[in-house]
Amino acid sequence: MLQFEHRYATLPEPLWVESQATPVVNPELIAFNAPLAYELGAKEIPDAATLAQWFSGNQPMPGAKPGALGYAGHQFGNFVPQLGDGRALLLGEVVDHSGMRRDVQLKGSGRTPFSRGGDGRSPLGPVLREYLVSEFMAAMGIPTTRALAAVATGERVVRQLPEPGAVFTRVASSHIRVGTFQFAAVRRDEAALKALADHVIARHYPEAANGEDPYLALLNAVVARQAVLIARWMSVGFIHGVMNTDNCSIAGETIDYGPCAFMEQFDPQKVFSSIDQGSRYAFANQPAIAQWNLARFAETLLPLMREEGDAVVEQATAAIRHFDTLLSTEQRRLHADKLGLAPESEQAVPLMEGLESQMHQGRMDMTATFDALTHYAASLSDEQPSDEHRNALLALTTQPNELTAWLDSWQAVQVASQNSQRFAAMRNANPVIIPRNHRVQEVIDAAYDGDFAPFHALLAVVTQPFDESEDARRLAAPATDSEQVLRTFCGT
Ligand code: AMP
Ligand code: MG
Repeated sequence: MLQFEHRYATLPEPLWVESQATPVVNPELIAFNAPLAYELGAKEIPDAATLAQWFSGNQPMPGAKPGALGYAGHQFGNFVPQLGDGRALLLGEVVDHSGMRRDVQLKGSGRTPFSRGGDGRSPLGPVLREYLVSEFMAAMGIPTTRALAAVATGERVVRQLPEPGAVFTRVASSHIRVGTFQFAAVRRDEAALKALADHVIARHYPEAANGEDPYLALLNAVVARQAVLIARWMSVGFIHGVMNTDNCSIAGETIDYGPCAFMEQFDPQKVFSSIDQGSRYAFANQPAIAQWNLARFAETLLPLMREEGDAVVEQATAAIRHFDTLLSTEQRRLHADKLGLAPESEQAVPLMEGLESQMHQGRMDMTATFDALTHYAASLSDEQPSDEHRNALLALTTQPNELTAWLDSWQAVQVASQNSQRFAAMRNANPVIIPRNHRVQEVIDAAYDGDFAPFHALLAVVTQPFDESEDARRLAAPATDSEQVLRTFCGT
């Protein structure tokens, strides 16, 4: 079905180590992303039984050459010199319709040489969560790995309690992480490090090869992609939850969805992950953490860079500092879109800061606030604007007087109500629906009882996040107090 190539497998061991899937008892297809398969070059899609065999790892896909990737990583700030794919297998790369090389990887397919104490398996819950959240991110235009398939294994995996098992198939621009570079660097394997860096330049940043110092150009390019990525996360309230260096993609995609979640009531210090005890990866810390991760990346590149001594350290430091500027530039653009302002508006940042403070103080739901603001902007273009949409927005806050003052200052500068292009940008920056934690939990609970219909229903609406359908409206509603999910779990 897919035309596999195997460039990464030519890199020196143990960056890539051959490894085979361990068959499962009774693979059953839960979901398959046919549009993505076609994008990857599939001409026809086989029946569900064949897909279940392939995407559980029970039968090798024609042309695949499974292997596990080595990497290291800082986990919550502590360096671990060897992590690696303990439960994942790279099947190979395919060149997609647009000419881009992309990885296809099974996750939960059994033990590998990097499994340490783990069983190499995935429970069903995290598989469904990653499917929903990564496909939502893709629909929002936020760089992300994609979901190609989910297969139930018919086996149990034991975590705190026994849970149904599943295998997830992920498509990524690559699975190369900051931790991959740290792995080669800590082994003092300069040949492997250089081979890796050259592979990354050829694959993701070919323009860097023409730079005066290709490895410095590589660093700058990775910094730029991460800055855009983090700005986009922040614009939808996404909290990754485990921004370890091994979960930081060199291609600048969101990768390794674990205990991730979207913020509901706006709170910069928000944390969901049960394992993030020191709140290291709280919402507002994400830019600083990405920058910290990039500094670890820069350290690995120093031996390859042209300058030496203090000069090379200064160059790398300047590259990392530049992250702030790149992040602010992208954030300013996103703020203008979300607020329906002209792209060059000087008011984007102060107005957004004002609204964030309103959302925080007034306990407002972030997604509902921007959705209501979008409807209010639309209503302002009517000849006789009604109070309905203004009141709907004011109903979201516990401090309507303060929000009224903010709304007046916003209304004085917003242009979306008179400009259809600006309004379209505003609509596309403010989803009607996000995969809310209580909804994700609800579909996982139903799936554990054997009912996948709620999963498919939620997937259908979060992958059309600007659609105003009745289903979307129902599933978009914020959690009531009793529905709130306060903690999310890695579940690995
Ligand atoms: P993650 O939390 O998915 O980012 O994984 C962190 C590290 O733990 C990676 O090296 C994984 O391969 C490894 N790991 C996570 N779960 C398992 C498992 N069930 N079996 C083996 N290794 C695992
Ligand atoms: Mg990981």
